[in-house]
Amino acid sequence: MGALTGRTALVTGGSRGIGRAIAERLAADGATVAVHYGRSAAAADEVVEGIRAKGGTAFTVHAELGAEGDVATLWESFDRQVLEHATSTGLDILVNNAGVTPRGEIDETTPEAFEEAVAVNMRAPFFLAQQALKRLRDGGRIVNISSGATRIALTDIIAYAMTKGAVDAFSLTLAKALGPRGITVNSVAPGIIDTDINASWLRGNEAAERSAAELSALGRVGRPEDVADVVAFLASDDARWVTGQVLDATGGSQL
Ligand code: NDP
Repeated sequence: MGALTGRTALVTGGSRGIGRAIAERLAADGATVAVHYGRSAAAADEVVEGIRAKGGTAFTVHAELGAEGDVATLWESFDRQVLEHATSTGLDILVNNAGVTPRGEIDETTPEAFEEAVAVNMRAPFFLAQQALKRLRDGGRIVNISSGATRIALTDIIAYAMTKGAVDAFSLTLAKALGPRGITVNSVAPGIIDTDINASWLRGNEAAERSAAELSALGRVGRPEDVADVVAFLASDDARWVTGQVLDATGGSQL
C-alpha cells in the first residue's frame, strides 16, 4: 500500500515536464491521478498508459486554460470520469502546475504575452481552487507550482515572475482560509529544470547549460523528478503540519 492509496489527485499540465513527473510520482504512491492537458493529448495519453503499465490508476482531463469556460470544462471532465477510476467523487490533492513563461525584459513584454501569463499562471489556479473546494475532502492538499524567480531577480522573465509572486500570496492566504478544514496549501518553487519550457535556450547549448548548472549550489540543472518528490512530500501525511509555505526546490540556486 502506498502513502497515497485511496486518494484522488488532479495535476494540471500533467502531459509534459514537471507535471508529468508529479503525476507519475503521485500515481506510484498509490493515488488515482487525473492528468490534465491543454494541447498535448498524445503526451497525456502516454502518461496515463505509463502509469497503468506500472499498475497505477490514471485518466486524462482536457481543458485549454485561458480559454472561455476553461475551469468549468476541466471540472466537468473530471466529474464525468472520476467514478470510473476511483471509489468516490471527491478530490484529495490539487496540483496547480500548468504554466507558461513569456520571455522578455519589461520593454519587450507585450500586453498579449502578459495577459496569457496572468490567465494561465494566476487566474486558472485561483478559479480551479475555488471550484475544487466543494470537491476537496477535509485533510486535503493544494500544491501550487511557483518559481525561484520570485526570490531571484531575473529581468528577462519579469512578467512571469510577477505571476508567480501572486501564486505565493495565494498559497499563503488560502492556507489560512482552509486551515479549519485541515487542508494544507503550499507553493513549491523550482529552479531551472530541464523541460520544454527551457528547451529553446538550454538544450544543446553547452555554455547555457554550464551557467544554469552553476546557479545551483549542487552544480547541476534540475530534473522534473527533483520537483515531483517535493510535491509528493507535501501531498503526504508527513507534511500535515506544513501549510502556507513556499518550499524552495531550486537546488540552492544563488544562495
Ligand atoms: P512545460 O512547458 O514542460 O509543460 C507545461 C505544461 O503546462 C504542459 O503540460 C502544458 O500542457 C501545460 N499548459 C501550458 N499552458 C497551458 C494552457 N494554456 N492550458 C492547459 N495546459 C497548459 O513546463 P514545465 O514542466 O517546465 O513547467 C511546469 C510548471 O513549473 C510551470 O508552472 C512553470 O512555470 C514552473 N516552473 C518551471 C521551471 C523550469 O525551469 N522548467 C522553473 C520554475 C517553475 P499541454 O502541452 O498539454 O498544453
